[in-house]
Amino acid sequence: MNCEETTELLSQFIDDVLPLPQRTSVDAHLDLCPVCRAHAAEFRSLTRSLRKITRPVPPGDLASAINAALQIEAAARRQLPERSLVDRLALWLEPRLMPYGVGSFASVVMFAAVFIALSPHFMALQLASKQLSTVLVFRPSPGYDLNQPVSSEDFSNLRAPFAEQSPSLNPGGALAALTSSYAQPGTNQEGDDMIVIADVFSNGSATLADVVQAPRDRQMLADFEVALRQSAAFVPASLDRRPDTMRVVFTVQKVDVRDRSF
Ligand SMILES: [Zn+2]
Repeated sequence: MNCEETTELLSQFIDDVLPLPQRTSVDAHLDLCPVCRAHAAEFRSLTRSLRKITRPVPPGDLASAINAALQIEAAARRQLPERSLVDRLALWLEPRLMPYGVGSFASVVMFAAVFIALSPHFMALQLASKQLSTVLVFRPSPGYDLNQPVSSEDFSNLRAPFAEQSPSLNPGGALAALTSSYAQPGTNQEGDDMIVIADVFSNGSATLADVVQAPRDRQMLADFEVALRQSAAFVPASLDRRPDTMRVVFTVQKVDVRDRSF
């Protein structure tokens, strides 16, 4: 046994509570080691000194004094007004809800902090959206939807203030369909043109009044007349704010564009 092991067991050795084999080992080491022997001597003298100290004796009336104090405390409790159910519930809930309260408050603080941190970005976004809406003011007609077919009102609004002098083509009419068919690629028709005079009435219908220059292709003029009769060629006069009856000159040009030339 070495000094370290001996020192660990020394207290039990002095108190004589060690099992025999360990006590023998400690004994053997103490015979050889003056340092541990000195430690053992110190322990023994300390133990003797402690034994000399007298035990403090509790005052004889300690138990009765404690009982009296408890009785007084109990009597004071009984004197207190009975707590209502709500109060007792509040008392019971307080320690249980407190952590959640702290958590919620922390969340609010964090939200505020994040909001304040991001506010320059929000302001930038707001500014950008304002600028965007200023750009959108230049849209020809508010509420105009590119994905929807053009309505008569939209088209008439687009053409203001010229609509007063020249009637707006009805976007859903047969004439509009005819003119747009000229622009369809692959119709493979040769270029042609004509100048005609038409009377336009308040409901948007029109009749051919005169042909100033007939087209080479007679079918073109015939199609034009059919289109005029088929449905209202123009929007109603009220939308254009134009006079009820107008005489207009039409120049219809059919241009053949060969994509090979580009
Ligand atoms: Zn030793």
